[in-house]
Amino acid sequence: MINRFMPIRAALIAATVATAAVSLPGLVHAQNAAKLANSQSGYHRIMIGEIEVIALSDGTIPLDSALLITDKRAEIATLLAKSFIKSPVDTSVNAFLIKAADKLILVDAGTAELFGPTLNKLPASLHNAGYEPEQITDILITHIHTDHTGGLMDGSRRVFPKAIVHVERKEVAYWMDPANKQKAPEGQKVFFDQAAVKFKPYVDSGQVKTFDGATELFPGIRSIPAPGHTPGHSLYSLESRGEKLVFWGDILHIAAVQLSDPSVTIQFDVDTRAAAQQRKLLLADAAQKKYMIAPAHVSFPGFGHLRHEGDEYRWYPIQYVNDASAAAK
Ligand SMILES: [Zn+2]
Repeated sequence: MINRFMPIRAALIAATVATAAVSLPGLVHAQNAAKLANSQSGYHRIMIGEIEVIALSDGTIPLDSALLITDKRAEIATLLAKSFIKSPVDTSVNAFLIKAADKLILVDAGTAELFGPTLNKLPASLHNAGYEPEQITDILITHIHTDHTGGLMDGSRRVFPKAIVHVERKEVAYWMDPANKQKAPEGQKVFFDQAAVKFKPYVDSGQVKTFDGATELFPGIRSIPAPGHTPGHSLYSLESRGEKLVFWGDILHIAAVQLSDPSVTIQFDVDTRAAAQQRKLLLADAAQKKYMIAPAHVSFPGFGHLRHEGDEYRWYPIQYVNDASAAAK
């Protein structure tokens, strides 16, 4: 597969080869691999006011830090080491489920088969949480990159036959226009091909409903425009009884780096300058107003808060709690 994710796939293969090289007997290697596989159920419930929100894991992918764009390349390894991680960075792909009064709303739809065997866990995570795709009434798409929309389709089958898919108007216009593929950098052209396979069937079936900029989509649920990563990249805020959670889409790809240096962008950004600008604004807003955020690519379950400390931001993941509904009382 020749696409922008080749460095990721190369990193994945390199890691596999390295592991195999140090464990010569195949049987021992297989046993180790079995032990290494986490048996987590892939979902995590919290309460925002009186609304239940469930983080759903689609899995993780090793992300090569070489994909980051910066004029301070040496800084990257230093920042990763400071967080006790190294490249390739095991990066979560998180989706979320909102149990609204009479709706079952998914935020993003996972990757499906597009990025290898460490992903495509969303269907199992949803099932483990007690729901099936046919029950989903609405899907809020942060943007049409295929780690957020790949899971809409399973081959030629629409996975969510009853769902209305909400996307910002400019986002749909950008990815559905073949002229934009011609203008895009070589490495980003594949996203147009994937959008045609994974997203367009929902346009054709009449299930896509666009909105413009900042809009109230459901009671307590609003879109927040954050263009840059993609032209119609949107965050979604959920408010209930004075509590607030903002689904953060792709404001962060490698938090360990971008929380310290928000000017670092990534090769998937359609407009790197605007993406960096949005990151600076949104980091400051979340830290100042202290609402909870749920980025798509921080470690699962991906719920937490930001604090501005010194000249950088620090991520505070939520405390683990066994029973979210009991904790909310
Ligand atoms: Zn993403």
